[in-house]
Amino acid sequence: MQYRNYGNTLKRVSVLGMGTSRLSGKETDFKSNIELIDRALELGINYFDTAPTYASGTSEKILGAAFQNYKEKNFMVASKSMLSMEPTADDVLRRVDSSLKTLHIEKIDFFHMWSILTMDQYERIIAPGGPYEGALKAKEHGLIDHICVSVHCGGEELNRIILDGLFDGVTLGFNALNYRHRLDGLRLAASKGMGTAIMNPLAGGLIPQNPVYFQNLCQPGGTVIDGAIQFVASHPQVSTILIGINSERDILEAVKALEAVPALNENQWEEIADRLPVPAEALCTMCDYCRGCPAGIRVSRLMGAYNEYVLSGRDETHFHEWRKMYYGAYPFETTPCVKCGQCESKCTQHLPIIRRIQIMNEICGKEADKQRTLCEKYFPETGYPKTGIYGMSITAETLLKAYQTFYGRLPQQTYFLDSNPAKWGNNLFDTDQTIHSPEEIQKLGIERIIIAAPKYEKPIREFLKNYVTEGTEIYAL
Ligand code: SF4
Ligand code: SF4
Repeated sequence: MQYRNYGNTLKRVSVLGMGTSRLSGKETDFKSNIELIDRALELGINYFDTAPTYASGTSEKILGAAFQNYKEKNFMVASKSMLSMEPTADDVLRRVDSSLKTLHIEKIDFFHMWSILTMDQYERIIAPGGPYEGALKAKEHGLIDHICVSVHCGGEELNRIILDGLFDGVTLGFNALNYRHRLDGLRLAASKGMGTAIMNPLAGGLIPQNPVYFQNLCQPGGTVIDGAIQFVASHPQVSTILIGINSERDILEAVKALEAVPALNENQWEEIADRLPVPAEALCTMCDYCRGCPAGIRVSRLMGAYNEYVLSGRDETHFHEWRKMYYGAYPFETTPCVKCGQCESKCTQHLPIIRRIQIMNEICGKEADKQRTLCEKYFPETGYPKTGIYGMSITAETLLKAYQTFYGRLPQQTYFLDSNPAKWGNNLFDTDQTIHSPEEIQKLGIERIIIAAPKYEKPIREFLKNYVTEGTEIYAL
């Protein structure tokens, strides 16, 4: 394990810091979580990042239970207070006292003013009688070693916080996707002698989910995850990287990735950075700080789908598939945003959420028109032949749902067919229609087949020759 200076604090921290927000909060996993902490210590990790709310409120308890077994304190703890939960100096003093008791330690090494999103929050934190004053008092009483800050802002705002000089360290999101917006802040913090802890090195899972897009991160024989971790760790001004750990495997994989971190100077690091793709727009990191939409929209899920739209080069089919997966909506369904702006004011990446929802709604509106046209073409109100829809894909599901939404129940003379025996006899999606084998085409008297699996149109046409009569019409969506 490599160790690095945490700014000018004279503390040496392991380059791998253990993030504890992903630990299981289940009572039944408490013992195995303690073993994970033991394992991390054994592997040389000495920086543990926690907060009272992490892991369903069990993170500090798990760490405390593990730390009790060590006579010598050979680890460092970062904990936090949050403006919304501890808005006054006294609240912060109570928070520190409670965390120390739970953690079974006498001093918190790095106490963070947690999650500053806006300058308004920052001003309230440092105002007289506010949280920062409480942290200062705790430091005077010897309960805290260093007061740090965790930020989700960048640019000028981050620079201003650093230049005010109130903090010994900063925890910030920095990864292969957002580094262009954070690099100046990282450099400035290091130049002012602050320690730098990096959160979100995998961009909320976006990097591992798009290995082709980020392939330039990969070193020979390594994965894109290794590459993303190495990319961040190899920046000379990074003190430690926080990886959310949930299992021994997580620890071992991160340790392995960090074994291969090259020692680079700034110029060498920038050469690697220059090879990375530049996303056309800032991406959502799925942090979910925007939750609480009054219209019930799960904004982070929706923005996750928009990420896919950008990363795929604005491929609408890809977008619809991911939106269905992330958000559960059909391609023809728009999102009822009332443009209140609440989500935008909370967004850690300052994304234009309302504009993005509008763009997605335009795409979905186009899809609604397309589905209407398809329904009218293939399923006029009366007089269409007995029809089989072949291939139970998202395309078929969308067509069916669109018909139900716009016109009601599909007439009885419509059947659903698939070549996968495991599907035969099952109910179709959430309807009472069943899925049939192609062997039933003639028995059911099907006169027309619509192939709803566009990618497999050619082999399906070939396959169907065994089951249809000469006069059967075959179309493809
Ligand atoms: S702007 Fe739209 S998505 Fe954002 S919180 Fe308001 S209604 Fe919800
Ligand atoms: S929209 Fe903003 S706040 Fe919401 S999850 Fe994405 S980055 Fe986080």
